[in-house]
Amino acid sequence: MAEGGRAVASAAGEFSLQETGALLARARVVVSGDTGVMHMATGVGTPVVALFGPTVAQFGFLPYHARAAVLERALDCRPCSATGTAACPLGHHRCLADITPEEVAAAVERLVA
Ligand code: SF4
Repeated sequence: MAEGGRAVASAAGEFSLQETGALLARARVVVSGDTGVMHMATGVGTPVVALFGPTVAQFGFLPYHARAAVLERALDCRPCSATGTAACPLGHHRCLADITPEEVAAAVERLVA
């Protein structure tokens, strides 16, 4: 994110695995789903805001060794997958859609404060 938070740059598909690690190491905070990028950020010591949808922290794939905030919703349908799903079996994906941008922004603010 650029100074003042007014612009976002996408690096999707631009970097190798090692370059991605270097990029994550330079970030003040990383916002990610329960993904490999989340674990890479944790590994390089960058604070993480982790959005957990169909998976749950109890499976053991937590962001560890770094400051982190896990955002998730208590839904009866969770977890529906051990590693995530491309499509919601119920068709609404509320586990992620119900996490608001304001919650994510507040978690980012706490971690960079
Ligand atoms: S909202 Fe859909 S994808 Fe998310 S946990 Fe429930 S069933 Fe799975």
